[in-house]
Amino acid sequence: MKLHVLGCGDAFGSGGRNQSGYLVEASDRLFLLDCGPTTLLAMKKAGFDPRRLDVILLSHLHGDHFGGIPFFFIEYLYQKPRDNLLHIAGPPGTEEKVCELFRLMYGHATTAREIPPTSFHILHPEQSTIIEGIEVFGFRVPHQLQDVSLALKVSYGGKQMLFSGDSAWTELFIEHARAVDLFLCECSFYDSSTNNHVRYLDFQENLPRLECKKLVLTHLGEEMLARRKELPVMLAEDGMIIEI
Ligand SMILES: [Zn+2]
Ligand SMILES: [Zn+2]
Repeated sequence: MKLHVLGCGDAFGSGGRNQSGYLVEASDRLFLLDCGPTTLLAMKKAGFDPRRLDVILLSHLHGDHFGGIPFFFIEYLYQKPRDNLLHIAGPPGTEEKVCELFRLMYGHATTAREIPPTSFHILHPEQSTIIEGIEVFGFRVPHQLQDVSLALKVSYGGKQMLFSGDSAWTELFIEHARAVDLFLCECSFYDSSTNNHVRYLDFQENLPRLECKKLVLTHLGEEMLARRKELPVMLAEDGMIIEI
């Protein structure tokens, strides 16, 4: 299984990096972790036909993580129609927000059109859901006050990965990263005080306790990019392919 980093930037496009999007390529499945506004173009740039996409998994409903879905919808409506259902799974409110965003962006020009054939799934915190054979366990992480932000533990084809989504550092990462093949962890800041994103200094303190097989930091902001050559951990790059 391979993970293609389509976007490892933060909400601000720091360093000219794309917004959140990771394409997982398994032998018979192609699925996304998050779908930021730059995801469709990055997927095409990486040489994938968007019609091959089976599932989009969303960690939370911030624009840099789900704002790219309307572009997939117009692709499927006007450029390359799909013959099968697209599955979209995310925290409670996903279907409403995705449809609302699509209407805001294209509703008036496409009044007669519905969205392309899509099946929505709710990822309830602390529950496992199986979508097209992909097992997803989401757990709530500290990022938003009211709306639900999830970290996603995804299992498929005998491999397992943990994606933090956006979150401040939490002990839950120690527990859920244990034995996973890949832990993809956001690290927006180096030392700035924040209570809704990981700071590298907090991460570093916990690094010896992490028992994952591979670790990559992502969702990198300016502070992290300025220090990227001196840090002893793997940092994501757009276009990077990670073997899982
Ligand atoms: Zn974000
Ligand atoms: Zn966020």
